Amino acid sequence: KSGLMLGRRGLVMGVANNHSIAWGIAKALAAHGAQMAFTYQGEALGKRVKPLAESIGSDLVLPCDVEDLASVDGVFQRLGEAWGGIDFLVHAIAFSDKNELKGRYADTTRENFARTMTISCFSFTEVAKRAAALMTHGGAMVTLTYGGSTRVMPNYNVMGVAKAALEASVRYLAADFGPQGVRVNAISAGPVRTLAGAGITDARLMFNYQQRHAPLRRTVSIEEVGGAALYLLSDLSTGVTGDIHFVDSGYNIISMPHPAALKT
Ligand code: NAD
Repeated sequence: KSGLMLGRRGLVMGVANNHSIAWGIAKALAAHGAQMAFTYQGEALGKRVKPLAESIGSDLVLPCDVEDLASVDGVFQRLGEAWGGIDFLVHAIAFSDKNELKGRYADTTRENFARTMTISCFSFTEVAKRAAALMTHGGAMVTLTYGGSTRVMPNYNVMGVAKAALEASVRYLAADFGPQGVRVNAISAGPVRTLAGAGITDARLMFNYQQRHAPLRRTVSIEEVGGAALYLLSDLSTGVTGDIHFVDSGYNIISMPHPAALKT
Protein backbone atom coordinates (compact mmCIF):
# COMPACT_ATOMS: atom_id res chain seq x y z
CA LYS A 1 0.00 0.00 0.00
CA SER A 2 1.42 3.38 -0.96
CA GLY A 3 0.20 6.47 0.84
CA LEU A 4 -1.06 8.44 -2.15
CA MET A 5 -4.56 8.72 -0.70
CA LEU A 6 -3.83 8.09 2.98
CA GLY A 7 -5.89 10.38 5.19
CA ARG A 8 -8.07 11.46 2.23
CA ARG A 9 -11.84 11.17 2.36
CA GLY A 10 -14.25 11.36 -0.53
CA LEU A 11 -17.58 10.56 -2.08
CA VAL A 12 -18.10 8.07 -4.92
CA MET A 13 -21.37 8.38 -6.85
CA GLY A 14 -22.39 5.88 -9.53
CA VAL A 15 -21.54 2.38 -8.37
CA ALA A 16 -24.31 0.04 -9.59
CA ASN A 17 -22.37 -3.24 -9.34
CA ASN A 18 -18.87 -4.67 -9.52
CA HIS A 19 -18.68 -3.92 -13.27
CA SER A 20 -19.26 -0.19 -12.77
CA ILE A 21 -16.48 2.21 -13.75
CA ALA A 22 -17.00 3.90 -10.36
CA TRP A 23 -16.17 0.59 -8.68
CA GLY A 24 -12.90 0.31 -10.63
CA ILE A 25 -12.06 3.80 -9.39
CA ALA A 26 -13.07 3.02 -5.79
CA LYS A 27 -10.85 -0.07 -5.75
CA ALA A 28 -7.82 1.91 -6.97
CA LEU A 29 -8.41 4.67 -4.40
CA ALA A 30 -8.93 2.14 -1.56
CA ALA A 31 -5.70 0.35 -2.48
CA HIS A 32 -3.92 3.66 -1.91
CA GLY A 33 -5.48 4.35 1.47
CA ALA A 34 -8.56 6.49 0.67
CA GLN A 35 -11.64 6.42 2.87
CA MET A 36 -14.88 6.60 0.89
CA ALA A 37 -18.60 7.18 1.17
CA PHE A 38 -20.86 5.81 -1.57
CA THR A 39 -24.26 6.70 -2.96
CA TYR A 40 -26.67 4.32 -4.64
CA GLN A 41 -29.76 4.89 -6.75
CA GLY A 42 -32.70 2.96 -5.30
CA GLU A 43 -32.80 0.08 -2.86
CA ALA A 44 -32.36 -2.63 -5.52
CA LEU A 45 -28.90 -1.24 -6.36
CA GLY A 46 -28.30 -0.53 -2.66
CA LYS A 47 -28.29 -4.28 -2.05
CA ARG A 48 -25.34 -4.57 -4.45
CA VAL A 49 -23.47 -1.45 -3.40
CA LYS A 50 -23.51 -2.03 0.37
CA PRO A 51 -21.46 -5.27 0.36
CA LEU A 52 -19.01 -3.76 -2.15
CA ALA A 53 -18.54 -0.71 0.07
CA GLU A 54 -18.11 -2.93 3.14
CA SER A 55 -15.45 -4.97 1.36
CA ILE A 56 -13.24 -1.88 1.27
CA GLY A 57 -14.08 -0.77 4.80
CA SER A 58 -16.77 1.82 4.06
CA ASP A 59 -19.93 2.05 6.13
CA LEU A 60 -21.18 5.39 4.82
CA VAL A 61 -23.53 4.25 2.04
CA LEU A 62 -26.33 6.66 1.24
CA PRO A 63 -29.33 6.69 -1.11
CA CYS A 64 -29.25 9.38 -3.80
CA ASP A 65 -31.24 9.94 -6.94
CA VAL A 66 -29.94 13.07 -8.65
CA GLU A 67 -33.43 13.78 -10.02
CA ASP A 68 -34.44 14.39 -6.40
CA LEU A 69 -32.61 17.44 -5.05
CA ALA A 70 -33.59 16.65 -1.45
CA SER A 71 -31.69 13.35 -1.67
CA VAL A 72 -28.62 15.17 -3.04
CA ASP A 73 -28.74 17.67 -0.18
CA GLY A 74 -29.23 14.80 2.28
CA VAL A 75 -25.97 13.20 1.15
CA PHE A 76 -23.90 16.35 1.64
CA GLN A 77 -25.50 17.08 4.98
CA ARG A 78 -24.60 13.57 6.17
CA LEU A 79 -21.05 13.93 4.87
CA GLY A 80 -20.66 17.26 6.64
CA GLU A 81 -21.90 15.75 9.91
CA ALA A 82 -19.80 12.60 9.64
CA TRP A 83 -16.51 14.03 8.38
CA GLY A 84 -16.69 17.82 8.49
CA GLY A 85 -15.09 18.01 5.05
CA ILE A 86 -14.05 15.92 2.05
CA ASP A 87 -11.02 15.78 -0.22
CA PHE A 88 -12.40 14.25 -3.41
CA LEU A 89 -15.51 13.49 -5.45
CA VAL A 90 -16.14 10.86 -8.13
CA HIS A 91 -19.19 11.43 -10.35
CA ALA A 92 -19.97 8.46 -12.62
CA ILE A 93 -23.66 8.98 -13.39
CA ALA A 94 -25.48 9.04 -16.70
CA PHE A 95 -28.91 8.14 -18.01
CA SER A 96 -30.97 8.41 -21.17
CA ASP A 97 -34.05 6.57 -22.43
CA LYS A 98 -32.64 3.62 -24.33
CA ASN A 99 -35.26 4.11 -27.05
CA GLU A 100 -33.31 7.24 -27.98
CA LEU A 101 -29.90 5.56 -27.86
CA LYS A 102 -30.61 4.23 -31.32
CA GLY A 103 -31.66 5.63 -34.66
CA ARG A 104 -31.20 9.33 -35.41
CA TYR A 105 -30.20 12.06 -32.98
CA ALA A 106 -32.65 14.30 -34.80
CA ASP A 107 -35.54 12.28 -33.37
CA THR A 108 -34.67 13.00 -29.72
CA THR A 109 -37.69 14.22 -27.75
CA ARG A 110 -37.80 17.38 -25.66
CA GLU A 111 -38.60 15.33 -22.53
CA ASN A 112 -35.73 12.89 -22.90
CA PHE A 113 -33.32 15.64 -23.96
CA ALA A 114 -34.07 17.52 -20.73
CA ARG A 115 -33.93 14.40 -18.55
CA THR A 116 -30.67 13.19 -20.11
CA MET A 117 -29.12 16.63 -19.58
CA THR A 118 -30.34 16.89 -15.99
CA ILE A 119 -29.05 13.48 -14.92
CA SER A 120 -25.94 13.18 -17.08
CA CYS A 121 -24.71 16.79 -17.12
CA PHE A 122 -26.35 19.12 -14.62
CA SER A 123 -26.07 16.63 -11.75
CA PHE A 124 -22.30 17.08 -11.90
CA THR A 125 -22.59 20.85 -11.52
CA GLU A 126 -25.03 20.40 -8.67
CA VAL A 127 -22.92 17.94 -6.70
CA ALA A 128 -19.66 19.74 -7.55
CA LYS A 129 -20.97 22.91 -5.93
CA ARG A 130 -21.92 21.04 -2.76
CA ALA A 131 -18.70 19.02 -2.71
CA ALA A 132 -16.54 22.14 -3.20
CA ALA A 133 -18.22 23.72 -0.17
CA LEU A 134 -16.90 20.77 1.88
CA MET A 135 -13.39 20.97 0.36
CA THR A 136 -12.10 23.56 2.79
CA HIS A 137 -8.47 22.45 2.38
CA GLY A 138 -8.62 22.06 -1.40
CA GLY A 139 -9.60 18.93 -3.25
CA ALA A 140 -10.18 17.21 -6.57
CA MET A 141 -13.16 15.99 -8.58
CA VAL A 142 -13.51 13.63 -11.50
CA THR A 143 -16.44 12.88 -13.80
CA LEU A 144 -16.74 10.35 -16.60
CA THR A 145 -17.24 11.21 -20.25
CA TYR A 146 -17.01 9.54 -23.66
CA GLY A 147 -15.54 10.54 -27.03
CA GLY A 148 -19.05 10.62 -28.53
CA SER A 149 -19.02 14.20 -27.19
CA THR A 150 -16.84 15.55 -30.00
CA ARG A 151 -17.18 12.90 -32.72
CA VAL A 152 -20.33 11.25 -33.94
CA MET A 153 -20.75 7.73 -32.60
CA PRO A 154 -23.77 5.89 -34.05
CA ASN A 155 -26.64 5.53 -31.55
CA TYR A 156 -24.92 7.60 -28.83
CA ASN A 157 -27.06 10.54 -29.93
CA VAL A 158 -28.39 12.75 -27.10
CA MET A 159 -25.84 11.27 -24.71
CA GLY A 160 -23.07 12.67 -26.94
CA VAL A 161 -24.66 16.11 -26.69
CA ALA A 162 -24.93 15.74 -22.89
CA LYS A 163 -21.27 14.65 -22.67
CA ALA A 164 -20.22 17.72 -24.71
CA ALA A 165 -22.05 19.89 -22.18
CA LEU A 166 -20.54 17.89 -19.31
CA GLU A 167 -17.02 18.49 -20.68
CA ALA A 168 -17.74 22.21 -20.98
CA SER A 169 -19.00 22.12 -17.37
CA VAL A 170 -15.67 20.60 -16.30
CA ARG A 171 -13.85 23.63 -17.72
CA TYR A 172 -16.21 26.19 -16.18
CA LEU A 173 -16.18 24.44 -12.79
CA ALA A 174 -12.38 24.23 -12.92
CA ALA A 175 -12.30 28.00 -13.38
CA ASP A 176 -14.85 28.56 -10.59
CA PHE A 177 -13.13 26.37 -7.99
CA GLY A 178 -9.49 26.78 -9.00
CA PRO A 179 -8.91 29.78 -6.74
CA GLN A 180 -9.87 27.67 -3.68
CA GLY A 181 -7.48 24.90 -4.68
CA VAL A 182 -10.14 22.53 -5.99
CA ARG A 183 -9.33 20.77 -9.27
CA VAL A 184 -11.96 19.47 -11.72
CA ASN A 185 -11.19 16.97 -14.46
CA ALA A 186 -12.89 14.32 -16.60
CA ILE A 187 -11.82 10.90 -17.78
CA SER A 188 -12.95 10.03 -21.28
CA ALA A 189 -13.13 6.24 -21.13
CA GLY A 190 -13.29 3.83 -24.04
CA PRO A 191 -16.26 1.44 -24.14
CA VAL A 192 -16.64 -0.76 -21.06
CA ARG A 193 -19.28 -3.46 -20.56
CA THR A 194 -21.51 -2.02 -17.83
CA LEU A 195 -25.24 -1.60 -17.20
CA ALA A 196 -25.23 1.90 -18.67
CA GLY A 197 -23.06 0.79 -21.62
CA ALA A 198 -25.54 -1.97 -22.45
CA GLY A 199 -28.30 0.63 -22.94
CA ILE A 200 -26.70 1.79 -26.19
CA THR A 201 -27.92 -0.07 -29.27
CA ASP A 202 -25.15 -2.18 -30.85
CA ALA A 203 -22.83 -1.50 -27.88
CA ARG A 204 -21.18 -4.85 -28.52
CA LEU A 205 -20.26 -3.78 -32.07
CA MET A 206 -18.66 -0.55 -30.76
CA PHE A 207 -16.78 -2.56 -28.19
CA ASN A 208 -15.48 -5.03 -30.78
CA TYR A 209 -14.62 -2.25 -33.24
CA GLN A 210 -12.47 -0.47 -30.66
CA GLN A 211 -10.85 -3.75 -29.71
CA ARG A 212 -9.85 -4.27 -33.35
CA HIS A 213 -8.84 -0.75 -34.32
CA ALA A 214 -7.58 1.20 -31.28
CA PRO A 215 -3.78 1.68 -31.30
CA LEU A 216 -3.47 -0.75 -28.36
CA ARG A 217 -5.80 -3.23 -30.13
CA ARG A 218 -7.91 -3.77 -27.02
CA THR A 219 -10.49 -2.06 -24.84
CA VAL A 220 -9.78 -0.73 -21.36
CA SER A 221 -10.57 -2.25 -17.96
CA ILE A 222 -12.28 -0.48 -15.07
CA GLU A 223 -9.00 -0.94 -13.18
CA GLU A 224 -7.19 1.10 -15.85
CA VAL A 225 -9.77 3.87 -15.51
CA GLY A 226 -9.20 3.57 -11.75
CA GLY A 227 -5.49 4.19 -12.23
CA ALA A 228 -6.16 7.40 -14.13
CA ALA A 229 -8.64 8.53 -11.48
CA LEU A 230 -6.04 7.88 -8.77
CA TYR A 231 -3.68 10.18 -10.66
CA LEU A 232 -6.32 12.90 -11.11
CA LEU A 233 -7.53 12.73 -7.48
CA SER A 234 -4.13 12.50 -5.80
CA ASP A 235 -1.19 14.86 -5.45
CA LEU A 236 0.37 13.29 -8.56
CA SER A 237 -1.69 15.75 -10.63
CA THR A 238 -1.67 18.93 -8.51
CA GLY A 239 -0.91 21.02 -11.62
CA VAL A 240 -3.80 19.62 -13.67
CA THR A 241 -7.33 21.03 -13.87
CA GLY A 242 -10.07 21.43 -16.47
CA ASP A 243 -8.66 18.53 -18.46
CA ILE A 244 -10.37 15.74 -20.41
CA HIS A 245 -8.06 12.77 -20.01
CA PHE A 246 -8.51 9.86 -22.44
CA VAL A 247 -8.30 6.29 -21.17
CA ASP A 248 -9.37 4.61 -24.39
CA SER A 249 -6.44 2.57 -25.74
CA GLY A 250 -5.69 5.60 -27.93
CA TYR A 251 -8.86 5.26 -30.00
CA ASN A 252 -9.46 9.04 -30.07
CA ILE A 253 -6.34 9.72 -32.16
CA ILE A 254 -7.42 7.49 -35.03
CA SER A 255 -8.83 8.95 -38.24
CA MET A 256 -9.45 5.63 -39.97
CA PRO A 257 -8.60 2.04 -39.15
CA HIS A 258 -5.31 0.66 -40.46
CA PRO A 259 -5.90 -1.06 -43.82
CA ALA A 260 -4.21 -4.20 -42.48
CA ALA A 261 -6.80 -4.38 -39.71
CA LEU A 262 -9.62 -3.91 -42.23
CA LYS A 263 -8.35 -6.78 -44.41
CA THR A 264 -8.25 -9.40 -41.63
P1 NAD B 1 -23.10 1.87 -14.60
O1 NAD B 1 -24.46 1.48 -15.07
O2 NAD B 1 -22.34 0.88 -13.81
O3 NAD B 1 -23.15 3.25 -13.80
C1 NAD B 1 -24.07 4.27 -14.11
C2 NAD B 1 -24.55 4.81 -12.79
O4 NAD B 1 -25.40 5.93 -12.98
C3 NAD B 1 -25.36 3.77 -12.00
O5 NAD B 1 -24.75 3.56 -10.74
C4 NAD B 1 -26.72 4.42 -11.86
O6 NAD B 1 -27.34 4.10 -10.63
C5 NAD B 1 -26.34 5.89 -11.93
N1 NAD B 1 -27.49 6.73 -12.20
C6 NAD B 1 -28.27 6.81 -13.32
N2 NAD B 1 -29.29 7.67 -13.13
C7 NAD B 1 -29.15 8.16 -11.86
C8 NAD B 1 -29.91 9.05 -11.05
N3 NAD B 1 -31.02 9.63 -11.51
N4 NAD B 1 -29.46 9.32 -9.79
C9 NAD B 1 -28.35 8.73 -9.30
N5 NAD B 1 -27.61 7.85 -10.01
C10 NAD B 1 -28.01 7.57 -11.27
O7 NAD B 1 -22.30 2.25 -15.93
P2 NAD B 1 -20.87 2.93 -16.18
O8 NAD B 1 -20.56 2.61 -17.59
O9 NAD B 1 -19.92 2.55 -15.10
O10 NAD B 1 -21.21 4.49 -16.12
C11 NAD B 1 -20.53 5.42 -15.30
C12 NAD B 1 -20.17 6.66 -16.10
O11 NAD B 1 -19.17 6.33 -17.06
C13 NAD B 1 -21.33 7.30 -16.87
O12 NAD B 1 -21.22 8.70 -16.81
C14 NAD B 1 -21.06 6.84 -18.29
O13 NAD B 1 -21.62 7.69 -19.26
C15 NAD B 1 -19.55 6.90 -18.29
N6 NAD B 1 -18.88 6.18 -19.39
C16 NAD B 1 -19.18 4.88 -19.64
C17 NAD B 1 -18.55 4.22 -20.67
C18 NAD B 1 -18.88 2.77 -20.99
O14 NAD B 1 -18.56 2.31 -22.08
N7 NAD B 1 -19.47 2.02 -20.09
C19 NAD B 1 -17.58 4.88 -21.44
C20 NAD B 1 -17.29 6.21 -21.16
C21 NAD B 1 -17.95 6.85 -20.12
